[in-house]
Amino acid sequence: MKSTELSTISRETTNGTANSVRTASRIRIRWHELSPLNPIKLITFEQLVNLGKITAAVAATSVTRRAMVWGTPTMLMLEPTTACQLKCPHCPTGRGELARPGGRISLEKFRTLWDSIHPAPIRLQLWNQGEPLVHPDTPGIIRHATASGSRVILSTNVEALANPRTAEAIVRSGLHTLILSLDGASAESHVQYRVGGKWDRVERGVRNVAEIKRKLNRKYPVLQWQFLLFKHNLNERDDALRLAREWGANELVFKTAQLEAFEKEEGERWLPDDPKLRRYVLKDDRWVLKRAERPFCARIYGSAVVQWDGTVVPCCFDKDGEFVIGNAHDAGFPAVWQSDAYRAFRQRILTGERPPMCANCTEGLHGMYAKKERF
Ligand code: SF4
Repeated sequence: MKSTELSTISRETTNGTANSVRTASRIRIRWHELSPLNPIKLITFEQLVNLGKITAAVAATSVTRRAMVWGTPTMLMLEPTTACQLKCPHCPTGRGELARPGGRISLEKFRTLWDSIHPAPIRLQLWNQGEPLVHPDTPGIIRHATASGSRVILSTNVEALANPRTAEAIVRSGLHTLILSLDGASAESHVQYRVGGKWDRVERGVRNVAEIKRKLNRKYPVLQWQFLLFKHNLNERDDALRLAREWGANELVFKTAQLEAFEKEEGERWLPDDPKLRRYVLKDDRWVLKRAERPFCARIYGSAVVQWDGTVVPCCFDKDGEFVIGNAHDAGFPAVWQSDAYRAFRQRILTGERPPMCANCTEGLHGMYAKKERF
C-alpha cells in the first residue's frame, strides 16, 4: 500500500467520520486511485479487511507455493449477455464461434448471486462476451450492485446509447465508469474492426450520455473512450482527442490491441509498426507477448468471472468456458469459490502447467496502455 493511501485512511479515521474501531462496520474509508480505471474510491471496513485477506493469501501462496484462498473476491466480472450487434473479428461472439450456449442472466438470478457474496466485491465489471447494453435489465443489475456500495464499470460498443431512454437509464443507474470501445475517429476506420457498427449512432450515444449527465447534474458515469491502436487508425489519434472533448467524454485511453491468432501475417495486418504501440514481439514468425513467462498469477486469488448462466470460470481469458469451476446458481458462489476444483486450478497454474490462454494474458503485462488523456 502506498503511503499516500495510508495517510488518507488516517485522516478519515481521525477527523470524526468514524469514531472508533468498534464502529468498524460503518467506517467508510476514502481510498486513493489504485488503477487506471480508478476502481476504488470508497470502501467499507469489511471490504478493506477482505482485501487484506486476499493480499495475505497471495503473499502466503507465493512463498509456500501452495494455493491459499482467504476471503472473497474483491472484483467480480459478470457477463450479462452473450448477444451483440457487431461482428468484431477478434471476438468469438462477433465471429459466431463462441463454443458454449448463449443467453442472458435474469435480474433475479443476479440478485441472488450478488447477495451471496459477503462482503460485496469492491468492483463489478459488467461485461465479458457480448454487449451488456442489449440486456434490458443491465440498469437494474447496476442499481443492485451499487446499492451494496460496490463500484460498477461497464464496457460498451456505444450503439445502444443512441436511444436516449437507454442513455438516461444508464446515467441514473449509479454506474461509475462507462468504457466506450471506439477504435477510430471516423466512420471508415471505426467499421474496419467494429464490423457492422454505425458511426452516427456512436456519436449520438456519447453525446446523449454527456448531455443527460449535464441536465441531471451528475458527475458519473465517467466516460472513458478506449481506443485500441491498430495499424489502420493510428493517424486518427488527434481527431479522437478533438472528438472526445467535443462529444463530452472525460478520458481518452489509447490501448494496445490484443490478437486472437499469432501468425506473422495476422499481426502484420493489424498491429502498428511502432513497437511501442504494440504488446507483442515477433519470434520465429509468431507473435508473443512482451513479458517474461510469469511463474505466478495473482488474479485468480481475488477475482472471478461468472458467465450469464452462472458458470464460474477463473478469468476472462477463458472465453469458451474451457475451465469450468462450478455453477454459482446451483452450488452458490461461496461454495464454488472455496471448492476443491478451484483450488486444483489455482495449484495447476502455480506449478507451471499453464493452459494456452495464459500465454495471451494481460496479468503482469506492462505497457498495456500507451497513453491516457483526461479532460
Ligand atoms: S489467463 Fe492464466 S495467467 Fe491470466 S488470469 Fe487467467 S489463469 Fe491467470
